[in-house]
Amino acid sequence: MEEKIYDVPSEWTHRAYLDEAGYRAKYEASIKDPEAFWAEEAKRIHWFKAPTRIKNTNFGPETVSIRWFEDGVTNVAYNCIDRHLHTRGDQVAIIWEGDDPSESKKITYRELAAEVNRMANIMRNRGVEKGDRVTIYMPMIPEAAYAMLACARLGAIHSVVFGGFSPDSLASRIQDAKSAFIITADEGLRGGRKVPLKVNVDAALERVGAGVVDHVLVVRRTGSSVNMLPGRDVYYDEAAAQVSDECPYEEMNAEDPLFILYTSGSTGTPKGVLHTTGGYLVHAAMTHQYVFDYHDGDIYWCTADVGWVTGHSYILYGPLANGATTLMFEGVPTYPSISRFWEVIDKHGVNIFYTAPTAIRSLMQAGEEPVKKTSRKSLRLLGSVGEPINPEAWEWYHRVVGDSRCPIVDTWWQTETGGILIAPLPGATKLKPGSATKPFFGVQPQVVDAEGKVLEGAAEGNLVIADSWPGQMRTVYGDHERFVQTYFSTYPGKYFTGDGCRRDQDGYYWITGRVDDVINVSGHRMGTAEVESALVAHPKVSEAAVVGYPHDIKGQGIYAYVTLMAGEQPSEELRKELVAWVRKEIGPIASPDLIQFAPGLPKTRSGKIMRRILRKIAEDEFGSLGDTSTLADPGVVDDLITNRQNKR
Ligand code: ATP
Ligand code: MG
Repeated sequence: MEEKIYDVPSEWTHRAYLDEAGYRAKYEASIKDPEAFWAEEAKRIHWFKAPTRIKNTNFGPETVSIRWFEDGVTNVAYNCIDRHLHTRGDQVAIIWEGDDPSESKKITYRELAAEVNRMANIMRNRGVEKGDRVTIYMPMIPEAAYAMLACARLGAIHSVVFGGFSPDSLASRIQDAKSAFIITADEGLRGGRKVPLKVNVDAALERVGAGVVDHVLVVRRTGSSVNMLPGRDVYYDEAAAQVSDECPYEEMNAEDPLFILYTSGSTGTPKGVLHTTGGYLVHAAMTHQYVFDYHDGDIYWCTADVGWVTGHSYILYGPLANGATTLMFEGVPTYPSISRFWEVIDKHGVNIFYTAPTAIRSLMQAGEEPVKKTSRKSLRLLGSVGEPINPEAWEWYHRVVGDSRCPIVDTWWQTETGGILIAPLPGATKLKPGSATKPFFGVQPQVVDAEGKVLEGAAEGNLVIADSWPGQMRTVYGDHERFVQTYFSTYPGKYFTGDGCRRDQDGYYWITGRVDDVINVSGHRMGTAEVESALVAHPKVSEAAVVGYPHDIKGQGIYAYVTLMAGEQPSEELRKELVAWVRKEIGPIASPDLIQFAPGLPKTRSGKIMRRILRKIAEDEFGSLGDTSTLADPGVVDDLITNRQNKR
């Protein structure tokens, strides 16, 4: 495919923190002398005791240990709230937009302080102390933010479980974290539908058994009546009325844990990713400032759920550490209409908008009109995260949503990395649709081959990171061995991301998909992203997922699952047209051997395609689909299997 390059728009060279030379100089400084670089950057947060020991990290092979700013003392909630109060007490910290467009509210930093303190006092009165685990199972309402910040204030470790997870998934996460305190709501509200959160908690706790969970704090969201177990369950509003809105903060060591977050499960059993205090906050705040070029007064909206790391780092901690106004959205992009995102942008004057490729691809299906009927003139910058963004979707996002005016920052990172590692800076980096472009400060990506040999220049292989960065996860909660095994044993001495990537002649990084998903056709290794992007570039295709399957001659054949645009019908003719299209776009080697038209693809609850399951279906291994508990819609899989079976 022909490669397009978008120059930095001229207004951005003036307004942005850094231009290209500025980026290069700062990046080089960060690699040349990490100690000095990060000692300086650490000053962006407030320390009760400033760190003198900056970096103490070891990627093995003997031991893997990661410590940043290790003798520093701070508190994340203090940094996100208290230190802003004398300058921005009356500034809006959180704009909350409800599921129903008639519901929204603005919470100032002063109000946020009071709410968080009340929540913290409720927890403290029930015995929550530094180091205790608190499970948060909430809809996207301000109380979810209060709960997380209240934990940070007390030094308790939060484990946020996405509100769309089942009682089983919730139970296993409560058990793994051994958390005695749960914060939830009576029900959630998404797309006009109620989500039975408290009912799910009750079912989960039945599975967990007695003697583990002592307290369940229930926020009233819909007001529906729910079962309340006396002595264990208490309503938040009733408890809040009894406590003060002042609460002392705990002094935390930089390496004290801040949170556990179980990964979304695209690849297998969820892991309790553990993040700590100082390094995480420095990294989240710094990336939020530079990648989104955040300036005082900007209205910033990240559409993720707080149940994902993106919600942790870029709805809450990064923005609030920077004293930003951050928008929190309870609903879905398609309710009450498919224009909702753009209407919210107009309603609140959003300047910076950060969403996922899955949302963009689904909104593309409905065409331009639902976007174009809104103004969006407040928008200045767009962002993408979660999967490789197909160039076709990138172009649509850029042209239709951003009116060809707003740069797109395609941010590559992981739950494990804590914050963004590869992304453009809007004033510094020319953009190539589909590429996450260049490493952030302090990040040393390398492309290695299967044997671990470091490839130089333009190359394709596996993506590793050669040295630590402050936001990196420290361990798998309760299982350091699994941490070492998962991330440091494939390429000893290096952090293995699990992603494949290509670096081009300009040093730009292109994530080609997960290494587990790589296809080997007649000896040619191919990432899934490229073939999928070619399919998505066809005007009748809205989404595509590509996997390998055993093929007598080629070793592996290419099996493509294709979802068509609204109104398009599957046909034998279209199948042939798509095969020819991919041949033309990439080459004969990439022609799909089988195409299955699918009304929907199996996705995680954060919207990522689960190729692991598609691979099993393509291999006719219906009995061993693996862990499917994180599937957003299990019905999709039955559908795919039925159609696969019919075809044989
Ligand atoms: P699990 O690790 O449990 O299987 P997951 O990897 O989907 O789940 P996350 O940590 O949320 O959980 O996602 C990180 C992964 O998402 C990356 O490793 C990469 O595969 C993909 N990803 C995220 N952002 C981008 C991006 N901008 N471009 C390409 N891929 C991305
Ligand atoms: Mg992962």
